[in-house]
Amino acid sequence: MATFKAIVIEKADKGQTVRLSDFDESGLMDGDVNVAVEWSTINYKDGLAITGKAPVVRRFPMIPGIDLAGTVEGSSHPDWQPGDKVILNGYGLGETHLGAYGEHARVKGQWLVRLPQGLSGREAMAIGTAGYTAMLAVMALERNGLKPADGPVVVTGAAGGVGSVAVALLAKLRFTVIASTGRRQEADYLKSLGASEVIDRSELTGPPRPLAKERWAGGIDSVGSLTLANVLSMTKYGGAVAACGLAGGMDLPTSVAPFILRGVSLLGIDSVQCPQSLRIEAWRRLDSDLDRGKLAAMTSQIGLSDVIGVAGNILEGRVRGRIVVKIR
Ligand code: NDP
Repeated sequence: MATFKAIVIEKADKGQTVRLSDFDESGLMDGDVNVAVEWSTINYKDGLAITGKAPVVRRFPMIPGIDLAGTVEGSSHPDWQPGDKVILNGYGLGETHLGAYGEHARVKGQWLVRLPQGLSGREAMAIGTAGYTAMLAVMALERNGLKPADGPVVVTGAAGGVGSVAVALLAKLRFTVIASTGRRQEADYLKSLGASEVIDRSELTGPPRPLAKERWAGGIDSVGSLTLANVLSMTKYGGAVAACGLAGGMDLPTSVAPFILRGVSLLGIDSVQCPQSLRIEAWRRLDSDLDRGKLAAMTSQIGLSDVIGVAGNILEGRVRGRIVVKIR
């Protein structure tokens, strides 16, 4: 029976085990497209899955990895032929369906997005779910009418994956970007991505006032909790904040004041079940609106055998920008 290299999570008496092993091809799940996986990445959610710190994995054994880029090897789906270059983000990959940290994946054709012409598979995974989520957030702010002339946009968790891509995208689109980080040593990095100002995250972690001084017209928040509450209370009249993450906590200790007294909008961003039309548009925009030099500057690379060792770092906020994983 043919096997391939994969990271496999098994359920154990206490928690779970994770190791790089030889996975039997007959264990692949149902799907109508077989993909040779070439590149993946490490997202916050992958860190949670591999360490078992949150119940991300819903099926065992599981090959984790929520993002892949690769080449179609075989397909009974009408849209996909062998040789097609594809990407896949979310849809339960690495959670309920065997995921990206293996040399082969069998998936549903309706989940796949064609790799944009201007992007390599490696670049697509340097963007990954984090970067595609940042793009969804920017698009949500635009749909809400936000324009550069309205005022600055704050990005929280700025030195992380979502944050780094959000800073680079907003700067390319001519927004003035205020980057909030807990890592002051990353100020030069954030300025090189296009931030005009770098603030310490401690400015956004105190007890939030219902309404504070208006500082920005919009925000992209990957932190949640007190940080998001403070961002909302400091948002200008008519502004909007896109909420993408929970790196600082799942709660939101805010009041209705920003919404009913300043007309502020809170825009929810979900990448996992995002409709296909919006995904395709987000990847098209990433192809056109993300500076490749900045993407390269925020990206480091590891191999499949390094993933388990690195996974915990992202939960501790120790990863700068994005990590790509060379699968084969
Ligand atoms: P990263 O770990 O790369 O970035 C998160 C950043 O948040 C860190 O780098 C750090 O930035 C900051 N941070 C970490 N811990 C804290 C804390 N306790 N308090 C305040 N700030 C903190 O993760 P990603 O960018 O991949 O993901 C960010 C968040 O977005 C995660 O919660 C993730 O689950 C979520 N997410 C949601 C998606 C969706 O579909 N809605 C899709 C993708 C991600 P700094 O050091 O600069 O302060």
